[in-house]
Amino acid sequence: MKHFHYLVLIVFAATSSIAQNHGSSGIPPYKNPHLPVEQRVQDLLGRMTLQEKVAMLSGADWMQSVPNQRLGIPSIKMADGPAGIRSWAGPSSETGAEAASKQITTTAFPAGVAMAATWDTELLQSQGQAIGQEVKALGRDMILGPTVNINRTPLWGRNFEGYGEDPYLTTRLAVAYIKGVQSEGVIATVKHFAANNQEFERHRIDAKVDERALQEIYFLAFKAAVQEAGVWSVMSAYNKLNGVYCAENAALLKDLLQKQWSFKGFVVSDWGSTYSTVDTVNAGMDLEMPGGEPMKSWLKKPDTQASGNGGGWLVPEKVLPEISSGKISTATIDDNVGRMLRVMFVSGQFDKPHRATGEIDTPEQRALVRKASTESIVLLKNSGDLLPLNPSKIHSVVVLGPSAAVARTGGGGSSLVAPKYSITPLKGIQDRAGQRLQVSYALGVSMEGEDPSKDAPEAREQLKNEAVSAAAKADAAVIFVGRSPKLESEDFDIKSLDLPAGQDDLIEAVAKVNKNTVVVINAGGPVVMSRWIAQVPAVLDLWYGGQEGGNAIADVLFGNANPSGKLPVSFVKDWKDSPAYGHYPGENLQVEYAEGIYVGYRYFDKQKVEPLFPFGYGLSYTKFDYSDLRISPNKVLSGKPVEVSLRVHNSGSRSGAEIVELYVHDGHSSVDRPIQELKGFRRISLAPGEDKVVHFTLDRSAIAFYSPSKKDWATEPGQFDVLVGSSSRDIRLKGSFNLEQ
Ligand code: BGC
Repeated sequence: MKHFHYLVLIVFAATSSIAQNHGSSGIPPYKNPHLPVEQRVQDLLGRMTLQEKVAMLSGADWMQSVPNQRLGIPSIKMADGPAGIRSWAGPSSETGAEAASKQITTTAFPAGVAMAATWDTELLQSQGQAIGQEVKALGRDMILGPTVNINRTPLWGRNFEGYGEDPYLTTRLAVAYIKGVQSEGVIATVKHFAANNQEFERHRIDAKVDERALQEIYFLAFKAAVQEAGVWSVMSAYNKLNGVYCAENAALLKDLLQKQWSFKGFVVSDWGSTYSTVDTVNAGMDLEMPGGEPMKSWLKKPDTQASGNGGGWLVPEKVLPEISSGKISTATIDDNVGRMLRVMFVSGQFDKPHRATGEIDTPEQRALVRKASTESIVLLKNSGDLLPLNPSKIHSVVVLGPSAAVARTGGGGSSLVAPKYSITPLKGIQDRAGQRLQVSYALGVSMEGEDPSKDAPEAREQLKNEAVSAAAKADAAVIFVGRSPKLESEDFDIKSLDLPAGQDDLIEAVAKVNKNTVVVINAGGPVVMSRWIAQVPAVLDLWYGGQEGGNAIADVLFGNANPSGKLPVSFVKDWKDSPAYGHYPGENLQVEYAEGIYVGYRYFDKQKVEPLFPFGYGLSYTKFDYSDLRISPNKVLSGKPVEVSLRVHNSGSRSGAEIVELYVHDGHSSVDRPIQELKGFRRISLAPGEDKVVHFTLDRSAIAFYSPSKKDWATEPGQFDVLVGSSSRDIRLKGSFNLEQ
């Protein structure tokens, strides 16, 4: 009997330990979706061998993390962004010949800079959500976007991917995009952390940036991505920041991101951006990409080596010996791997894997792209109200230029999406013209580098002459100029702000024979216009407008849509006017951000430089009047909000949208501060004659500056001016409030 009792006890103990391991439902706790995430993470870590954990630190191949079959840990399947889903099986990926031939086509959204020109946070959230849906529909889990690096120099090859020169605008748009993506259970990746503002020597350059500029300009969007949007992944940048590679930069990843900002997700390296084992793992760089055989063969290529890419440092053969030698602790490995597991649980990837069942490029997604492209178009000049083209006066239009009959949907590199279809400007115009308007076309000049036979002087002269004679016979000429993804791309910077060869000549020649000449810019940022801006009555910026760009520009030209975009980046008259001029691209592999916080309009305001078109600028076919600025209270205690309201009235004859911009000026600070800084904006739609009251709430972040001596944000009592207007150089209303001691 005694023995029986003993036996029962043993059996009971054994069952209860099984029950503990597998929970009451009979499944291990980490597989139980009802348990708290942290418990699941710890449970799973507890079941993994050290080898299994270390195996997860570097990728399985070009776009996937290492799965674990024994424990059922899925691989994180990635796809490039941010302007849609770029085929991970595309030609530039090392996924093998078979995969490379299977190009995946998806919805091509306008480039980031165009999305920024909409200043429409709701739209960005819808874009993020649509992209999230497509990621799932393709059975992937993670999108490598958004890009939030600031446009420091107009020559950066990747300016088109980001949201312009202002940290506040960038922040609001990035937060919206990330929320949209993650609402679908898809991992967003905010990139590239940090100070990745040029392609020139991107794998070796050391960005020397002072602490205040980092905090006030370059970090803000990353911080908000973590703290407001709860982003699940951060991509570290290729470059060095203040002497240390970003992927092994403990000050950046451990102290700032993890400790100060409380980031709980994982850091993924940029593709081929690691240079060490111990420092990288210890800094909190959790997942090295790419990995596996594709990484090995890619790293062996002479081009990869010449460009300075680094990789293959977090493979088990390198990490395990460093654990044995005590240079990397098992606690660190648990933390790094735990971060990936946490995201898999939180995003739902573990419990509801994406089964590649949804649709892509749905009618809703196409409509969203069209709306985005339309909202992004900026009307830069419209003398004599030439636009919209008046059907009672304009009966024939000649469409010209190297970007008229080609749909240039995005800039080059890892963000370029292959859409299922795309609308060229010429097609958009032909479809819109109907029976009443005669549309003709001439190339005028070939895009630099696209067809050498057309670049020879005689061939160029002939193309120009054909365009000029067609323009002389038409009532209006619309010239599509700009760059191509081969001239504006990841991997190299733009060689000049001038339009590529022959385009300025074409515009000048056409403007001489046709007084109704409209120039449309199809590029990812500013171009110099000094040779012809005074000769042409109308200029529009189409940016890279995604797959629906041709329809959108036709809608704007013919007045089916009223342009409402505003510049997210200042347009300089000349490259020499740029804040980074003289401090770019650096010397001896170092680039000094000598302009500090004076990036974009902050610099032009301070140095009294007249830009060609200022930050926040964009015209409309209607007119908006501003009135009734109210600021309350006008004396405020530290930490309390200030409410601002004003009235906007559409006094023109067309419906339209206005972007109301709010800037703050601090004239009493103990440190040097910009003349004005964007701290609020609203996009509103108004019918003719309609009024709307616009509200803003200003909190501490609207008036604080970063104090390097305090190593914290600071505010100082005194007067703050509130400037509200239609652009940074068109302030319509001014008021102020006092911050009390
Ligand atoms: C780019 C990243 C991109 C990655 C994967 C890198 O060259 O800098 O933005 O996500 O490649 O394609």
